This record gives sequence, C-alpha cells and structure tokens, in this order.
Amino acid sequence: MSPIGVFGGTFDPIHYGHLRSAYELLQDLGLGEVRFVPSAEPPHRGSTFAPAGLRYRMVEVAVAGQDGFMVDDCEFHRGGPSYTVDTLAAIRAEHGAAPLCLIVGMDAYLGLTAWHRWTEILGLAHIVVAHRPGWQLPDTGALGELLAECGTEDVGELHRQSCGRIYHHAVTQLEIASTEIRELVAAGKDPRFLMPDGVRDIIVESGCYTK
Ligand code: ATP
Repeated sequence: MSPIGVFGGTFDPIHYGHLRSAYELLQDLGLGEVRFVPSAEPPHRGSTFAPAGLRYRMVEVAVAGQDGFMVDDCEFHRGGPSYTVDTLAAIRAEHGAAPLCLIVGMDAYLGLTAWHRWTEILGLAHIVVAHRPGWQLPDTGALGELLAECGTEDVGELHRQSCGRIYHHAVTQLEIASTEIRELVAAGKDPRFLMPDGVRDIIVESGCYTK
C-alpha cells in the first residue's frame, strides 16, 4: 500500500512553496496521495489572519484538479486547538495499518519537541522532513537522539512499515512565505504568481489580508 502523505499547516495563505514541495514528495517518494490538512485552530499562534473557512477554501481551490492531492477537513470537526497528534490518530483510525507520512518543513521539524504529545507522533506516522538541498537534520540533542534511533535513508521503509521512521528529502525550496504574502497584500500589492490564480482571486475578492 502506498503511503499517505499528511501535510498540515496554517496555510494563511497556501502558496507555491507548499505546493511544489508536496508535489515533489508525491512523485519522489511514491506516495499514494498527499492530504493537505489546514489547521482549524493552530495551537502555536494567537490567531490567524484569514478565518479558518477561508483558509480551507483556498487550499481546496489550490489542490483542485491535481491527481493525488486532496484537502482534509478533519481538524474542523474537533473543538479546541488543532493538535497534529490528534489529526494523525483520526487519519490512522480511518486508514487502519496504511503507512502515513507526516510532511514537515525543516523549520517545523526543528520545533518538534515543543509539539503537544510529540513523543506519540512516530507511533502514528513516519515523519518526512522536506528541506533545502544541502541541509542536514540536527544530530545532537533530543532531535539527534531521535534521528539516531528512527532515521532511515531507505524510502522503501516508508512503504513497508506503517509508522516510526524519520526520512529527509531535499526539495526545490521556493523562497515564498505566507507572512510575506500577507505583508505584500497589506501594502496594496498583487500576490499574482506566488500561488495559483484561484487562491489569489479569493484573497483579492475577500480582502482578507487588506489593511
Ligand atoms: P507563515 O509565514 O505564516 O509562518 P508558512 O509559509 O511558513 O507561514 P505554514 O502554513 O505555517 O506556512 O507552513 C506549513 C508547512 O509548510 C510547514 O511544515 C512549513 O515548514 C512548510 N513551508 C512553509 N513555507 C514553505 C516553502 N516556501 N517551501 C516548502 N515548505 C514550506
């Protein structure tokens, strides 16, 4: 069974940096699909800029028509902060023993030990770290110990086992950040070509990042 990629994020808004990384992982790792999971209530942020429903809609529009991409609304059915461990447990309950790959960028991976019940995550999924070419995962501290215990260079293990491995993969890193997009729009500029046109249209029509 091909692994299911789980790509969580605030997606405030989604952009080509997210989409290109996910697409390269879909192809290079032989994932069956990538589920984009917009965070309903991101635990690490005071509040988001665009409301949850609009961020969800932008992801839905961004992935429409791309084979293997889908949006998952599981965090919208739970109350309280959207913890990744709960999301993975929900997807695990739905898919039995299928391999799950939690996709994170290097910045997110470096903060892993601050996540809610982070030690349970590898019992539910593999972790796939998408990083810039040439970057290395930390080999000291708690993350270094985790890598020594769970790291693998063999993509086949992501297919043969349901969870428990850490794999890193270099992807084309587009220097796009949601923060910069929001700032650009607030300054009255057009975010065209940083994201699919449908997402840009929602931003312009809703005025969600306009000051
Ligand atoms: P913000 O600027 O608001 O912090 P962001 O652009 O980093 O947002 P998030 O929704 O917080 O986007 O990120 C979701 C995931 O996407 C994280 O795992 C993050 O590491 C990753 N990510 C963010 N930007 C990029 C990018 N340009 N290329 C690849 N992955 C990215």
